[in-house]
Amino acid sequence: MGMLSGKTALVTGSTSGIGLGMAKALAAQGADLVLNGFGDSGHIQELQQDLQRQWGIKTIHHGADMSKPAEIEDLIQTAEKTFGGVDVLVNNAGIQHVSLVEDFPVEKWDAVIAINLSSAFHTSRLVLPGMKARNFGRILNIASAHGLVASAQKSAYVAAKHGLVGLTKVIALETAQTGITCNAICPGWVLTPLVQKQVDARAQAEGLSGDEAKRRLLLEKQPSGEFVTPEQLAGLAVFLCSSAADQVRGVAWNMDGGWVAQ
Ligand code: NAD
Repeated sequence: MGMLSGKTALVTGSTSGIGLGMAKALAAQGADLVLNGFGDSGHIQELQQDLQRQWGIKTIHHGADMSKPAEIEDLIQTAEKTFGGVDVLVNNAGIQHVSLVEDFPVEKWDAVIAINLSSAFHTSRLVLPGMKARNFGRILNIASAHGLVASAQKSAYVAAKHGLVGLTKVIALETAQTGITCNAICPGWVLTPLVQKQVDARAQAEGLSGDEAKRRLLLEKQPSGEFVTPEQLAGLAVFLCSSAADQVRGVAWNMDGGWVAQ
């Protein structure tokens, strides 16, 4: 029996990257899964079958666009109807856009804030009544080193991630005397499609090979010179779901190869 067997985990943006790593690790702990995110429906079905076969759990996929509150409401209602409630909520869906403030497209600003910040408000406000009724819950907000420090040309992302760290603290305080905890995880660079786009842009702009662009991107910010992996982040998520973490409340825990120690 896994630590989370009989429980249900919803991971937003779990068809790729860090969210996929979180979903796999929570499935390995026995949680039934609500997957969310975009992608090829055949690939998503294969992923569901693999997880079900490997861990003997149940899964559904809901394709809610996390920038749309009505679709988020349908996602949570579907999760509650299918599994009776959401015990672990991982707010992970996120996008990036890189541009100077004066050139930042307004619709990109709105999309980054909606997906990276407001969606976590909506999912949290909708799952908290059920978590309070059951007196158990884990809310994990996937923020970023950019929830703690800034970089140029990432105004919307840095604002959203700092906001997400703030939201984490408020929810932690509002649930402090319950069995619900809320914490943020702040990754440094992780080589997912979101970061690969930035590597490719840099390689193109500076006429570098892919490997050299990766090396420079890392060394600018991340003293270890190595990427953090989705599996390492998922290990922290599993710890935060455990009873050993019952009194870890409102932290913004960086796993970033030393980025914010500087
Ligand atoms: P990714 O691009 O690999 O995955 C993003 C996931 O979000 C995908 O499943 C995608 O389908 C989903 N998604 C995007 N827009 C969506 C929308 N509107 N509605 C529903 N789903 C949507 O990215 P990733 O690197 O795994 O990023 C995951 C989270 O981790 C993000 O919040 C990101 O900001 C954060 N993060 C990433 C890094 C990194 O270096 N990769 C570092 C710090 C924080």
